[in-house]
Amino acid sequence: MALTGIQILKMLPKKNCGECDIPTCLAFAMKVAAGQAEIEACPYVSDEAKATIGEASAPPIRTIKIGAGDAQFTAGGETCQFRHEKRFENQTGLAVLIATDEDAASIDGKIKRANDFEYERVGVMMRNNLVAIKDKGGASLADMAKKVMEGAPKQAIILMSDNVESLKAGAEACGDNKPLLYGATGENAEAFVDLARQPVVQSV
Ligand code: SF4
Repeated sequence: MALTGIQILKMLPKKNCGECDIPTCLAFAMKVAAGQAEIEACPYVSDEAKATIGEASAPPIRTIKIGAGDAQFTAGGETCQFRHEKRFENQTGLAVLIATDEDAASIDGKIKRANDFEYERVGVMMRNNLVAIKDKGGASLADMAKKVMEGAPKQAIILMSDNVESLKAGAEACGDNKPLLYGATGENAEAFVDLARQPVVQSV
């Protein structure tokens, strides 16, 4: 659970020395509580306090990196749900969805749009970041993943299926471009966890 500024202040050495670039320990504690300063900026805080404060202020969802190189997309690591509360650490991801049973013209069109799509929003260039591939029969996830990586090498990949074997084959086809896997249910959760522990997988 997040700590308040006063709770953090109690764990600080209270030297008011300003070495953290903030004039007082109270002001520093308030900034740490608001996520605007890192506890490491105080050279005098104990390791025990660092661990306690660091754990309490860690994002509820860890940062995950999907894909690799030019295709890498970073998500998670956020401590607020709405932008007006603070700020988002990572850019919102845009994705196109391709089902494995779509015809070739539709798939080629979506791959082209994934490559070409971009627009400027309040000074920030947004582009398509991800291609989600949904297992619906027809082509295998693995074959579709290879096709997408070849046609859209700057896109990270999401593989969607409740079939763990299909996901595993798809993840292996992605190689270093580790995909996000989607589709865990109450029935397949244990198999998903086993798959998530394998090195071919980024996250589930
Ligand atoms: S460096 Fe540490 S002790 Fe000094 S003012 Fe900042 S929080 Fe307080």
